[in-house]
Amino acid sequence: MKSTMCAMWTVMVLLAAGSAQAGLDFTLHKLESGRPGKTLLVVGGIQGDEPGGFTTAALVISHYRITSGSVWVVPNLNFPSIIKNSRGIYGDMNRKFEDLDPSDPEYETISKIKKIITDERVDAIVHLHDGSGFYRPVREDAMRCPERWGQCVVIDEERTSEPRYLELAALADRVVTRVNAGLYDPEHVYHVKNTLTRQKDTVMAKEMAKTLTYYAINNGKPAFGIEASKEFPTALRSYYHLRGVEGFMDELGIGFERRFPLTAEGVDQAANSNVALSFYNNKIFFDLADARSRLGYVPFKKDAAVEYVPSNPLMAVVGGGDAYRIYYGNRNLTALEPAYFEYDDTERDLEIVVDGAARTVPFGRIITVDKSFTVADRGECRVNIIGFSRPGLVNEAGVAVRREDFMDRFSVDKAGRVYRVEVYKQDRFAGMVLVRFDDGLRTAEAADAHGLVLERQANLFERVAAEPATGASR
Ligand SMILES: [Zn+2]
Repeated sequence: MKSTMCAMWTVMVLLAAGSAQAGLDFTLHKLESGRPGKTLLVVGGIQGDEPGGFTTAALVISHYRITSGSVWVVPNLNFPSIIKNSRGIYGDMNRKFEDLDPSDPEYETISKIKKIITDERVDAIVHLHDGSGFYRPVREDAMRCPERWGQCVVIDEERTSEPRYLELAALADRVVTRVNAGLYDPEHVYHVKNTLTRQKDTVMAKEMAKTLTYYAINNGKPAFGIEASKEFPTALRSYYHLRGVEGFMDELGIGFERRFPLTAEGVDQAANSNVALSFYNNKIFFDLADARSRLGYVPFKKDAAVEYVPSNPLMAVVGGGDAYRIYYGNRNLTALEPAYFEYDDTERDLEIVVDGAARTVPFGRIITVDKSFTVADRGECRVNIIGFSRPGLVNEAGVAVRREDFMDRFSVDKAGRVYRVEVYKQDRFAGMVLVRFDDGLRTAEAADAHGLVLERQANLFERVAAEPATGASR
């Protein structure tokens, strides 16, 4: 079961109590500027072992703001295969667009994405892939030849009879020129690859007739593949993908702002700065960028569906029972071992003195501490600072706590800087705040990354609070 907010990137997911079935349906994120212009549909993750493509699509959702026109993004079309790092657990999904038996396990997924492709608001489609070697129109060697797929923009034919864009090749060519303006190495050069699909006179053309892009052009939508080479690490693949996606946005007159520098390093940092998860309307929040492999005794809600909001559409909570495994794409970030509690809904925050300054901190926030913090005592509430203990002390409010007072192994992060402060009221769980010790190590970069998480987090919960679940955007 899953309900989708109309928000740009916020998707709340519900897992049935004690469930083993995660919400692994694909998601559609509509980045609408509210200003007129074309709508570009970006699709990633049709094959689960092509992280360059799906990471790119997720970055467009989390780190771009569209200022004119619209961009719709499906970052995780084959989510179950992404989690398993498999090209396709039910075969190649990108060969299911011509004919498909209704008994195929992916029949519903294909029907849904076809409906999005043919939505009359969609003007053009780019489909992101990671391909082997380097496409070259003339053979140079086994890795650089017409049969390879890396580093090209793919079209099925030179021009269509569709009035929106007759000239597929000309548009692809202009985008290739834009990508080639930012090559790290001349070897990475992009070309247009025309698969001549309509002629159906080669083995490849017959295969390509079964694909998403060919379905799209036969339904009046100009469609393009962007391929980045599997020879590269994911961040470099995404760098080239983003140059291509931005090239299409520029060509279509879609305005955008990007919140990181477009370099391979900028892409890498952006992709790894945004892995946070909120449970139960932000009573629990974890930044999992550097999480330990297991986090114990996490206070989940007793006899209720597990309710979470990921900060990134490639994140999923899988499993149940003794441990919920948290994935970011195909990476297993951590496992949460639940402890089940009734929940208190009367408390929303805690008062805390941080390095001498008093603050009220809503549950679900991370606060930064230099030297020490003290949680204020509040009547019936019991404060449990995980990893801190003092003999005879049950309620840990009113005690000044420093980093060296913690047992490292209880930290949320591997670096031993982030700890949980939990509040209980009459044995009901009321909420959690994370405390992060910076120890003067805060570099400008770390502050930026952290700032982004906090901003995202604030955003996330305003949206959750403001927008009713409608299910309408899927
Ligand atoms: Zn592919």
